[in-house]
Amino acid sequence: MTAVPTNMPISGHIDPVPVPRPITEREDGRLDLLGLPKKQIASLFEDAGLDKKEAKLRAKQVYHWIYHRGVSDFEAMTDIAKTMRPWLTERFVIARPEVIEAQHSSDGTLKWLLRTADNHDYEMVFIPDETRGTLCVSSQVGCTLNCRFCHTGTMRLVRNLTPGEIVGQVMLARDALGEWPKGRMDNLGDESESDYSADGRLLTNIVMMGMGEPLYNFDNVRDALGIVMDGEGLALSKRRITLSTSGVVPMMDRCGEEIGVNLAVSLHAVTKDVRDEIVPINRKYGIEELLQACADYPGASNARRITFEYVMLKDKNDSDEDAHELVRLLKKYRLPAKVNLIPFNPWPGAPYECSTPERIRSFSNIVFEAGISAPVRTPRGRDIDAACGQLKTAAEKKSRAELDRIAAEKQAALG
Ligand code: SAH
Ligand code: SF4
Repeated sequence: MTAVPTNMPISGHIDPVPVPRPITEREDGRLDLLGLPKKQIASLFEDAGLDKKEAKLRAKQVYHWIYHRGVSDFEAMTDIAKTMRPWLTERFVIARPEVIEAQHSSDGTLKWLLRTADNHDYEMVFIPDETRGTLCVSSQVGCTLNCRFCHTGTMRLVRNLTPGEIVGQVMLARDALGEWPKGRMDNLGDESESDYSADGRLLTNIVMMGMGEPLYNFDNVRDALGIVMDGEGLALSKRRITLSTSGVVPMMDRCGEEIGVNLAVSLHAVTKDVRDEIVPINRKYGIEELLQACADYPGASNARRITFEYVMLKDKNDSDEDAHELVRLLKKYRLPAKVNLIPFNPWPGAPYECSTPERIRSFSNIVFEAGISAPVRTPRGRDIDAACGQLKTAAEKKSRAELDRIAAEKQAALG
């Protein structure tokens, strides 16, 4: 087995409840292979008694069946000897997250409430539009941060999702959308990589914008996305994947170097006072530090711009002065930037309201006239609470008093 991934210690901060091992334990004692790199699958096969050479070969075959074919039953792996298949089934499993509930929005958005093998609930959302289909993937159960406008931030229970639980979301979406190759399942040798691409599929893009802060679960997110981008894995281009962070500055460089996907930054405010209030991680890593890290982000260019997310909160961060200051900051750091204006999605007990459409338009125009694209995002899936920041599992509905207590605890921990 490879080393257990360590959770990053963040001083003065509530760390996620650690996942003791990269594979979540199952009641039946079998090991889940989903989300493990080929090498680790081979070493598990070796630990279970295969010799080195056979372990390597079987791992290659199994990996291919898992990610190119979506197969989760060893019996369907026709190029593996018949006698070998029950041996695998006894010891291993290729699991999917358990689906507790699937909801369809009137606008085509789909939301799934999922459960881990050790009974933690989390969510994922699929958002189709004319040109693409975007899967919004969670990285943690809940979030240790407490952005005041975000429903996920009011959840207390937090644990990092394992690579398997993260890749599992993509696998499940492919299952649900019927996107695995059909037809003969035993002609593996004939298939070339070019036969396997995102083209023509419903699921074309991935955004790490579900529950959680992906850069507080760096190792697992990196390993999961490694499989999603692997040509022998799910083979999705890194240009179609975006990771959104609230601004975990010390991890941004590694994100560019080791993951290499597009970056989105939840900026939301242009002054220290307001950002301290609505995105409390700002007290640790301030706006200027964050923008410098963006300027240094490996791989950012005019062709691959950084997205700045900006939630529109009435009378809080939405004035014309705020828009001018945003432009000034983005220009000061010469950032290849685009701005995504997100109308605030309300939730019960939320302390803010959404800006008026006129205000949002005026804000957008100012940014746009400065030469920076600033589209207003259409909220999707509002009727099923699937819109940005509304993800919060049914199991976690709390009273207002309890929400205030959790917020106070998290803020105290940020110091
Ligand atoms: N933790 C990461 C990624 C998940 S949040 C981050 O904060 O970037 C994905 C996006 O939704 C972020 O930009 C977040 O600020 C935004 N968001 C959260 N709550 C929202 C709400 N109620 N309305 C609109 N956008 C929201
Ligand atoms: Fe966490 Fe992102 Fe929500 Fe902030 S906006 S609480 S970082 S999920």
